[in-house]
Amino acid sequence: MKKGKKLYEGKAKIIYATQDKALVIQYFKDDATAFNNQKKSTIEGKGVLNNRISEHILSNLSQIGIKNHLVKRLNMREQLIKLVEIVPIEFIIRNVATGSITKRLGIEDGTVLKEPLIEYCLKDDALGDPLIAEEHIYTFDWATKKEIEKIKKMILRINDFMVGMFRGIGIKLIDFKLEFGRIKINGRNEVILADEISPDTCRLWDSITDKKLDKDRFRKDLGDLIPAYTEVAKRLGILHEQSNITAVNVTKLSSVKKKRK
Ligand code: 5GP
Repeated sequence: MKKGKKLYEGKAKIIYATQDKALVIQYFKDDATAFNNQKKSTIEGKGVLNNRISEHILSNLSQIGIKNHLVKRLNMREQLIKLVEIVPIEFIIRNVATGSITKRLGIEDGTVLKEPLIEYCLKDDALGDPLIAEEHIYTFDWATKKEIEKIKKMILRINDFMVGMFRGIGIKLIDFKLEFGRIKINGRNEVILADEISPDTCRLWDSITDKKLDKDRFRKDLGDLIPAYTEVAKRLGILHEQSNITAVNVTKLSSVKKKRK
């Protein structure tokens, strides 16, 4: 699949056109940002790991009937995906209270929620992705009631599946962010899962030690982000061959792949 012109560049990914109007290439960058772009860095190898982890999770979700944009992984940093019109809402799912909700509502960090909580944020960097009520979505036509009902059902199924998947490898799924997109399938309008699911978009804590294995390592200056993401990939069974993957190894792997092309 030939890479065409750049269509969009986000904080962590770039979207390129292909010869097929319905398909685009999603490129995973090494850039990390936090706190509405105020904190920025480049972490060598992050994009490679997120590409692999997201491919693994989205493929598994596809197998349990969650339609999503992934067609296939193309190489270390790129995936072929279906072009969708992104619903301008970030859907946050929380199983345990931490992060923004603890500050906003004064809830004690680590409080286990009695059932998963779905929050909605408007996808708008300039406004800092503000929290919105479901009613705002309908008032401003960001999505229809039918779309939100469908998305909510998908979210609960995704959460159930992912909580179980991570529990099986000794990781607690604390919270995560999802995005959905509109697409025409056989002439019918549908909403499908889009974007990525990775340690960049989830909070993942080791089940026994509560060690953070996600982007909070960057947000909170905890260091060792690549070893943490590598640990997640290894436990998921994605990285069999490299027992000791490091940023340097990941970079080497990328260049070996490039030379082979
Ligand atoms: P919080 O609202 O506590 O900052 O984040 C809740 C969850 O959603 C976390 O798992 C966080 O990683 C994810 N999340 C929320 N907004 C964003 C975002 O703009 N980018 C990314 N990568 N993750 C987000």
